[in-house]
Amino acid sequence: TDLDKIRNFSIVAHIDHGKSTLADRLIQETNTVAVRDMKEQLLDSMDIERERGITIKANTVRIDYTADDGQDYVLNLIDTPGHVDFAYEVSRSMRAVEGSLLVVDSTQGVEAQTLANVYHALDADHEIVPVLNKIDLPASDCERVAEQIEDVIGIDASEAIQVSAKTGVGIRETLESIVKHLPAPKGDPDAPLKAMLVDSWYDSYLGVIVLVRVIDGRLKKGERVKFLSNGTVHHVDRIGVFRPAMAEIDSLGPGEIGFLTASIKQVRDTRVGDTITHQKSEVEALPGFKPAQPVVFCGLFPVDAAQFEDMRDSIDKLALNDASFSFEMETSAALGFGFRCGFLGLLHLEVIRDRIEREYDIDLITTAPSVIYDIHMKDGTVEQLHNPADMPDLTLVDHIEEPRIKATILVPDEYLGDVLKLCQDRRGLQLDLTYAGSRAMVVYDLPLNEVVFDFYDRLKSVTKGYASFDYQMIGYREDNLVKMSVLVNDEPVDALSMMVHRERAETRGRAMVEKLKELIPRHMFKIPIQAAIGGKVIARETLSAMRKDVTAKCYGGDATRKKKLLEKQKAGKKKMRQFGKVEIPQQAFINALKMD
Ligand code: GDP
Ligand code: MG
Repeated sequence: TDLDKIRNFSIVAHIDHGKSTLADRLIQETNTVAVRDMKEQLLDSMDIERERGITIKANTVRIDYTADDGQDYVLNLIDTPGHVDFAYEVSRSMRAVEGSLLVVDSTQGVEAQTLANVYHALDADHEIVPVLNKIDLPASDCERVAEQIEDVIGIDASEAIQVSAKTGVGIRETLESIVKHLPAPKGDPDAPLKAMLVDSWYDSYLGVIVLVRVIDGRLKKGERVKFLSNGTVHHVDRIGVFRPAMAEIDSLGPGEIGFLTASIKQVRDTRVGDTITHQKSEVEALPGFKPAQPVVFCGLFPVDAAQFEDMRDSIDKLALNDASFSFEMETSAALGFGFRCGFLGLLHLEVIRDRIEREYDIDLITTAPSVIYDIHMKDGTVEQLHNPADMPDLTLVDHIEEPRIKATILVPDEYLGDVLKLCQDRRGLQLDLTYAGSRAMVVYDLPLNEVVFDFYDRLKSVTKGYASFDYQMIGYREDNLVKMSVLVNDEPVDALSMMVHRERAETRGRAMVEKLKELIPRHMFKIPIQAAIGGKVIARETLSAMRKDVTAKCYGGDATRKKKLLEKQKAGKKKMRQFGKVEIPQQAFINALKMD
């Protein structure tokens, strides 16, 4: 294909503003898929994505379009992930295309992820076509939203296209605008092959599928290619494009986007942003490549210890397909064998946990999420702490630094006070507060550790779901942090230990022991429950002893009822964790770790 007949683009939007629906419409309008094969949200493939309405892995589709000028164009759409946890992948995949459709729900307006994503697009020097979606709804207000786009983002929205991805209004105009306003790619067909690795995922038949954007030269089936980041060489078995089903072709030239397969076994060996060339060619690597690093860690343990091996299998399989997820085995006195896992963020954590539970049918206990602390030792060395249980002896520690984020929150005025209070409570420092229409935009510097617990949930509940949120890491800073341990019947329960700010330790400790007192069933003896820092107890509750046998209230008269009760107890025991002499229900771990 001639370069000037190609248009490569992505769609940027806040969640639920209609990105997937619009993509479906573009595919349908151009007859890319036969009507009978059309199902809703073609591009969202994983179940969990459909349920949550989020796109986790980038997808792509090649669309043939005959424009009003009578010419045939090839439009390549890359669907980038829509969540903050995957910001790194978003920013990389944006570099594979020249333009973006900026989709804004015309009944809602600009949201935090609209901003975050459009900034990625602007960073990648994209030409941007604003699209106002959902004009079929009575609450649609295109004029106001166009103005807001100009005010907040600073791009011209006077020619924004008014669309209903639902009814199909404005779809043709959108296609015309892509052809007219987005630039064609540039590239040299005679230069040595240089391609960007945009994304990769595992397919059980074909092995790893690698999505590539060719920049210079030509990539052909049967060639040997090299990945610059790790120097590995692969024989290319297949080349193809997505329509959106895979269709094999012989080669890809400059400006084109497609896939290759090369009998690659692990997604780990294919890093987003990497540069691909021919085995014998020398080209300069694309700038800015760095593998995504996990920032949130937690322990995952099977509820039923007998499922540990199944869990290992499931984690191995998931890891093959997700280079940004890390894990190592962990043993906990309280929870037995499990894994310490690292994630890009909380959503990523939830997605992996859900997949293990659903796809492999394993019930899990999740320990408190933790960030990576830099422990500066008195001898001048720095240790990275991923697990509070590994906290070194305090007398050897000089100071502790924690990761901080810059959080951007957009919220309707009436909830602003609650949002400011929430951020303040979480040790936030306000950086900025501005208004855009009837919405406030607040920017906070917050400790990541205060966000990983339940910040999203709290934010949603105090704003009745009307706030939107986005963040980026800004670096490490020292603070007065300590490890708080929890002791049940004088034995430390490692799974409940956590890093907290010194000034908040008492409150957190008190809440924890009070909650545990409710959650742990009574035993035949008294159980002290304590929170401690070092050797010092900061909060204490005592669970009094049980007086009578549980079956006593059956008066011995009804034997079947008594038997049933005992059976029920036995089943319940499987969900208990034996801890010294104390049995703690797994639900207690989960609930104890929730705050408020
Ligand atoms: P995404 O999260 O940006 O991919 O958003 P989706 O495409 O999943 O759309 C979110 C919701 O908005 C879905 O329930 C869609 O059916 C609905 N939706 C999308 N576009 C329109 C539209 O133009 N009009 C109306 N009324 N609903 C729409
Ligand atoms: Mg979607």
